[in-house]
This record gives sequence, C-alpha cells and structure tokens, in this order.
Amino acid sequence: MSTRVLVINSGSSSIKYQLLDVETHEALATGLVERIGQPTGKLKHTGPAGTTTLEQPVPDHEAGMAMVLQLFEEHGPRLVESELTAVGHRIVQGGSVFAGPAVIDDAVLQQIDDLSSLAPLHNPANVAGVRAARHAFPSTPHVAVFDTAFHSTLEPAAYEYAIDREVARRYAIRRYGAHGTSHLYVSRQAAAFLGKDPSEVNVIVLHLGNGASATAVRGGRSVETSMGLTPLEGLVMGTRSGDLDPAVLFHLARVAGMSIDELDDLLNRRSGMLGLSGHTDMRDVHAAVEAGDENARTALDVYYHRIKGYVGSYYAHLGRVDAIVFTAGIGENDDLVRAGALAGLERLGIEVDPERNAGRITEEKVISPDGAEVTVLVIPTNEELEIARQAVETISAG
Ligand code: ADP
Repeated sequence: MSTRVLVINSGSSSIKYQLLDVETHEALATGLVERIGQPTGKLKHTGPAGTTTLEQPVPDHEAGMAMVLQLFEEHGPRLVESELTAVGHRIVQGGSVFAGPAVIDDAVLQQIDDLSSLAPLHNPANVAGVRAARHAFPSTPHVAVFDTAFHSTLEPAAYEYAIDREVARRYAIRRYGAHGTSHLYVSRQAAAFLGKDPSEVNVIVLHLGNGASATAVRGGRSVETSMGLTPLEGLVMGTRSGDLDPAVLFHLARVAGMSIDELDDLLNRRSGMLGLSGHTDMRDVHAAVEAGDENARTALDVYYHRIKGYVGSYYAHLGRVDAIVFTAGIGENDDLVRAGALAGLERLGIEVDPERNAGRITEEKVISPDGAEVTVLVIPTNEELEIARQAVETISAG
C-alpha cells in the first residue's frame, strides 16, 4: 500500500496543503491558497520543479481546490488518485464527539458542521475544505483529525468550569483544549528521544507560536492543557489575551459600552503581545526591547511570568516531570524566550544551558545541562506528518 497522504488545513480564506509520504516523512509538495473570496487570490505551490506562484481570483473553496489539482497536474508531482492512501483534514473542534480520528462520510461531516457553534471561525471553514476535497478526490478516503482529540483524556477535574452544571450541560461549556495534534506529536517524539515508551514518561509541552498553549502529558495522555472552551484561554499569545478575570468583560460592557463582538475582537485580535507592546511577532518585540521600549519589556515579562506559572502548576499536577519541551515558531526559534520562561526554576530541577540553548534550533535537541533532573528539549513540531500518520492508521485499521 502506498503511504502518500494529502494533508489539508482549510481556513476561512485559505487552504494549506502538503503531500506527504508517511514512510519516509518526506514532504513531496507543499502549497497555500490565500485570500479566497477576495478580489485577488494568491496561490503558491512548491513541488519537485520548484515554487510556482499565481495571482487570480479564487471565489470559494471549491474553486481553490480545483486550482490546487491543476497545480499538481502542471507542476507535479502528479496526483494519481489510486496512489493516494488518504486525504487527511485538520479539524479544529471535535467537541465531546470525537476522541480520535474519523473516516469522513456524510454523517461525520454533518457532526463536524454541528460543532460549529463551539468554533464559529474554524469548523465551517474546515467543512468547506472537506466538501471541496471530497469533490476533487471522490474515490479516496478522507480522514478528519481533530485538534481537540488528544485532550479527550482530560478528567472532569481538569475540564469542568466551576459554573452552574445545568447551564454548562445545555451549552456544552467545558474545556476542550487545542493544538492537540502538535502536543501529541511532540510528546511522543520526546519519549522516543529519551529512549522510552510514551507510557513511561511525564512531559510538559510548551507550544509557543502565534497561538500558544501548554499541556501536561502523563504516560502519553493529556491530563491538563491551557486552552479551554476556545483557544483564547491560557498563555499570552500574539494577539490573544490568554487568562483573565471574566469580570473584565462585564466591566467593559458596563463602563465602556462595548458590544459582544467588540469584546471578542479586543481579546482575540487586539490583545496579547500586540495589545501590550504593539507588536505581534516576537522578533519585533525583542527589537523594541533592545531599543529601550518599556512596554515591550513589560510585555515579555508578562509572557514569561504566565508560562512559568503554568510550568509550576503542571509540575504539581504531574508530580514527576521527565521533560519540558519547547516547540512551534517561538519555542523553536527564540532562545531568549526559552531561557526567560524557565529562569529561576532550578529548585524544581529545571535549568537551561546557555550554550546549548543559543540561537534557532531546527532539530530535536537537549538544552538542559548534563545531569539535570528535568530534560529540557526543543522538538520541532510537525502537525502535517501527525495528521498523515493518523490518516494512514485509521485507514489501515478500518
Ligand atoms: P502559528 O502556527 O500559530 O501561526 P508559528 O508556530 O508559525 O505560528 O509561529 C509564528 C511565530 O513565531 C511568529 O509570530 C513569531 O512570533 C515567532 N517566530 C518565528 N521566527 C522567529 C524567530 N526567528 N525568533 C523569534 N520568534 C520567531
């Protein structure tokens, strides 16, 4: 059986894709369709013949998918449908319905659509991507891989909010977490790196990208995670606030007359590092600090303080921590953040070696000193590979 999987991550105005060979881990092609539904769309396809870019209107996901097929046809590698094991789809919200990957049929697609109220920005876009891809590849199995699934092992103590039980039940209010595919991949890689089975190790994963989350993984299972009902809770992010007293919302509604949509926009798109420092990208925040910007300095302090608090909390929940792993855009590239977030935790056996930590890290690497009680690692995440792997496993098991 071929082990080629086309992985699709479909957003409201974009389709990201990767053709992967699960056996060799090789990405045979990658691409991106952007600005779907806008006057000019943008397409970028990288395959064996190099990179091709196009600008043309892409009215909807169906049209985008048809253009992707054409790009494969013209610039390679040729997508012979019989040689594709599966199309793997990243789906953001699986609610309490999906604890693992699922082969997509009409009923599954309907269930994903029904979960849209919990992820109004994401699930409808994911559904549009699935529909378009099913039309493009009608005889290939399609598999949904959920961002929430890895956190389905959370106990009620970790996932319940202390609010009226009946209200919570009626509106499906609980913590679902996110970034699960990355946390799963990275925690398994960490166990393999340590020469152990995932069931033998306790790991804290810090996924620090534009979105950021922390997860406590005990013996291969997620037991705590920082994102909640939505990806707004938890760590400070590029534009999202992370944790805050919910009373801030009533207060702003009362004193500033802000509407629900304005509050949503404030916390999801105008807060976090952007709100505190005026910069979303961590590189710009560091540059501002260098230039003596006090707000940027404080923003970084808030960022580190929040991560440190989660590490301490997860240490308490896990009891024993074998490894702390940094991953994603900031976790992999930013040595200042890695050092700053874990500074002062020596009493917990957590230390970062300045030389090992220096610079961008593009391969799995230990950054703690020899003999440290907790191994601090950098492990580049690869959500696409994990989605492809799960798609192949799901098809083989079926
Ligand atoms: P997402 O997938 O959540 O969009 P990524 O994991 O790709 O995000 O991370 C993107 C972020 O990584 C950027 O916003 C930036 O803050 C950070 N980043 C990327 N490269 C570097 C770097 N060299 N140094 C510091 N931060 C970086």
